[in-house]
Amino acid sequence: MRRRTKIVATLGPAVASAERVEALAGAGMNVARLNCSHGDWDGKRDLVRWVRELNTGLSPIAVLADLQGPKFRIGQIEGGFVELQTGDTLTIGHGHGAMLPMADDEVWAAMAPGDRVLFGDGDVEVRLGDCNHGVFKAEALTGGKVKSRQGVTLVGKSFDAPAITDKDLEDVEEAVRYGCDYIALSYVRHPDDMRRLREIVDRLDPTVRLVAKVETPEALDLIDDVIEASDAVMVARGDLGLQMDIEDVPIAQKIIIRKANLAGKPVITATQMLESMIVNARPTRAEATDIANAILDGTDALMLSGETASGAYPVEAVRTMARIAEKTESTLDPNERLADPEENPDRGAPTEAVALAAVTIANTLRVRAILTTSASGTTPRLVSKYRPAVPILCAAWDERTQQQMALVWGVESVRMPPTTNTDEAVAFLVESFRQRGVLSPGDQYVVTAGYPTGSRGNTNMILVLRA
Ligand code: PGA
Ligand code: MN
Repeated sequence: MRRRTKIVATLGPAVASAERVEALAGAGMNVARLNCSHGDWDGKRDLVRWVRELNTGLSPIAVLADLQGPKFRIGQIEGGFVELQTGDTLTIGHGHGAMLPMADDEVWAAMAPGDRVLFGDGDVEVRLGDCNHGVFKAEALTGGKVKSRQGVTLVGKSFDAPAITDKDLEDVEEAVRYGCDYIALSYVRHPDDMRRLREIVDRLDPTVRLVAKVETPEALDLIDDVIEASDAVMVARGDLGLQMDIEDVPIAQKIIIRKANLAGKPVITATQMLESMIVNARPTRAEATDIANAILDGTDALMLSGETASGAYPVEAVRTMARIAEKTESTLDPNERLADPEENPDRGAPTEAVALAAVTIANTLRVRAILTTSASGTTPRLVSKYRPAVPILCAAWDERTQQQMALVWGVESVRMPPTTNTDEAVAFLVESFRQRGVLSPGDQYVVTAGYPTGSRGNTNMILVLRA
């Protein structure tokens, strides 16, 4: 059985060589994530090159640039850090003259007595008291070390900050210049944030697909519209767990995945999936179960962050994730994971109906694979939506679409030679995947195609053929 769930691995210092990137790919990385919150593009240039050098055959690796978004940080603390004991009283100011300097105007403007403030990954929590002469008194609810430039979360508060910062704009330009296939936006609060990013990216390269990181309560409230305005979504559990009560995260994950599935948009489940493997060679039982549950929820992809970017066992983490995914998938009943056509939001579209019918035929006849040709990736994406039991093989007309398929559940892709019609495309697909060992002579397979032959954006036909 081939693995259907995709793995997004964040690249960083732990894998900063051509050999290590190749090892990640060999272990099962499908999408390489570049985190714009760390490092600059000089440091990312080699990472992108190493990934692209691997992309010589079937099912290449996609590159995803993850924008920092409006992330708030505290300023420079004298001495670099402050150590707080639970119950300690502290002061927070805007600039100098207090123990903790708040660097961002937006956070400062939103702060009010009674608010809870989290630092870093939420390890330190304080409650704000009165504000006198521009300095807040505060009490440490949970003590710990607060370091210079650490992230700040003002729990339950919304801000006036721009959704796309100047740094993000620079990173978008670089991401497009470096040929990234996906760009993700952090701290999305409104579908308009994604529409605005779409406009910006369209001016540079309209083929780049956009991922909304769902990590604020505002985005969760407007989740249908956020999904609609995006090409893919991420369940960004790290910040979601800071911005909302942690007990709300598991159900939020299920809601986001379910809605993305129904919309036929790829969804990534992210953060702390194998956190303990940053330092240990083996995961915890809870982590193994979390990965399996995300797959049972319907996620397209699983993400590794620190585990691969800076951990001690990056390759082992990918390999472990791949093994858990394969085992979990092998227990899925294809008839149970067929999305309910009644809930199909796009029932009038022929491509959607053809995709559903192709999967029904594939499951009924027990064929070996579903073959699709696609310019934009829409047909394989909609076939994937109905979670067939067999691989979805896609002949992409261009490299960008081929690479983007790396994020989509169950889809393997090959690049079509130019100026080929559907008949030649099918012959090419069969041959490519015979060489890869997916199809053997005599195997039955389903093809979706467009009639008249060679037409694009017009999937309206299903064939059942033998290799
Ligand atoms: P981050 O996003 O790792 O870029 O913060 C993911 C998350 O918040 O879970
Ligand atoms: Mn985040």
